[in-house]
Amino acid sequence: MADFKLTYATMFNSPEELHTGFDQAVEKIKKNMGQEYGMLINGQEVKADVKFDDHSPVNTDWVLAKMQKGNAKHAQEALAAARAAFPGWSHTPWQKRVELLRKAASLIEERIFELGAAMALEVGKNRMESLGDVQETADLIYYSCYQMEKNNGYIVEMGKDPLVGYEARNVSVLRPYGVWLVVSPFNFPFALTGGPSGAALVAGNTLVIKPATDTAWIVRLLVDCFRDAGIPDGVVNFVTGPGSTLGQALVDSPEVDGVTFTGSFDVGMKMFQDFGKRNYVRPIILELGGKNPVIVSKNADLERATIGIIRSAFGLQGQKCSAASRVLVEDSVYDELVARLKDTAEKLVIGDPTEKNTYNGPVINKSSYNDFKNFCEEVNQGGGKFLTGGHVKTGGLFDKGYYCENTFVTDLPFTHHLWKEEMFLPITTIGKVKNLDDAMKIANDVNYGLTAGFYGSAEETEWFFDKIEAGVTYANRPQGATTGAWPGFQPFGGWKGSGSSGKNAGGHYYLPLYMHEQIRTLVK
Ligand code: NAP
Ligand code: MG
Repeated sequence: MADFKLTYATMFNSPEELHTGFDQAVEKIKKNMGQEYGMLINGQEVKADVKFDDHSPVNTDWVLAKMQKGNAKHAQEALAAARAAFPGWSHTPWQKRVELLRKAASLIEERIFELGAAMALEVGKNRMESLGDVQETADLIYYSCYQMEKNNGYIVEMGKDPLVGYEARNVSVLRPYGVWLVVSPFNFPFALTGGPSGAALVAGNTLVIKPATDTAWIVRLLVDCFRDAGIPDGVVNFVTGPGSTLGQALVDSPEVDGVTFTGSFDVGMKMFQDFGKRNYVRPIILELGGKNPVIVSKNADLERATIGIIRSAFGLQGQKCSAASRVLVEDSVYDELVARLKDTAEKLVIGDPTEKNTYNGPVINKSSYNDFKNFCEEVNQGGGKFLTGGHVKTGGLFDKGYYCENTFVTDLPFTHHLWKEEMFLPITTIGKVKNLDDAMKIANDVNYGLTAGFYGSAEETEWFFDKIEAGVTYANRPQGATTGAWPGFQPFGGWKGSGSSGKNAGGHYYLPLYMHEQIRTLVK
């Protein structure tokens, strides 16, 4: 595997060893699944009175793990442990923190097959996407370590003020805030827990992690990597349970000094408001939803556009914040592009995501599955037509899990609310536009601004980058029209309702978000 670097853009020509490693890991996990896992507070396994079974969306008969239904008391205990560990961790030299975090990232890489297999079973991601999520996590942590080193621990000598008769030394230092809360979503449970956690920890904060209930198991396996790397007890605490109770107790606690929340707009906005009810303002980094457009010009390479749109519309069953959910096509190439999209989408293989040839697994849970049916019904009633899909899959394995067809919708009037609302499912609407200016107007006329894609001439791409309101933008990219960002290459974050910090994860400006500045003036 030495010459192969897994990213979302290279996953399409994977070496054979990778598949053998993954297959063996799936087999091993299936033999041992169903074990009970605790929460981890101050280095101790903590059990709750109530447990829940973590079922696979691939086949709901499979119980992957038994997890703890934690409550407000566990939230307080985890925060207290993080508080107690803060003085020690924040005064650990940053070089030592970097060393421990690099060790955690390398353990993630060592365990990539086992973790990837667990991911495929718990999230329903295909194998390459699963391995990608795990590798991305290691790379995000390495990137935070690299940033800390490159910036020499963020200790900066400032100018000397011209004092007559005295000499002053002025130093700017960035210091950690304290106890940091990371709340993560189900769709990239590894990268979107591990990335923010890595940054918070390198910066010297201590942590409480609360994963999505659908993906509690895989995040516990991530926490094990932090623990096994030798990060001291109490620095990383892990609690599981419902967002509405345990999660809310964390958000409402005055013991939280900063938050990174990745998830839906509605939950994130509520968290922002609740978190604001304090004696002073504390940092909250929100990474929220998307309604990502792709604009296709009459000058586009339609083959590239087709591949890029298909990958971004239906990768991970459309459950990416970066999914291509709206396609806006210039009149003169509309018919040809639509025909190509139909042809290619119908060739995608839907099935057990651990199998090599499967492109699409199930959606995450029953509620998403029901949403899919309801949205299709709304499309029908709203005058839309199904170019592909429009139904859930039935028969055999499909009756055991939450499988939906890849659905392209045409002819839905631009006034319909589904042109603006994030569905988070394999449903993408395609619309015909008279010209590129009309396309841009529609593209920007949403509450979100996460990712966007464009296919057209070189001259048009400059126009696109200038006009589009989004944090991550791609032109003429067959590897994905709107998806497939990788740390260090495409730092990831959104504008408008898609994100609060204006700085992208896995990029130059991210790590400082986890620290506050102190100026130290000493007069001799
Ligand atoms: P979600 O339903 O908003 O849940 C996200 C997390 O918040 C889960 O851990 C959830 O726990 C927790 N939560 C729910 N209510 C809470 C509360 N009152 N207080 C504290 N925590 C609470 O999102 P999701 O369905 O997991 O993920 C999909 C969404 O994430 C989409 O909107 C997608 O666009 C967005 N997303 C954004 C990015 C980005 O980088 N911008 C990346 C990935 C995903 P429970 O599971 O226990 O409810
Ligand atoms: Mg959810």
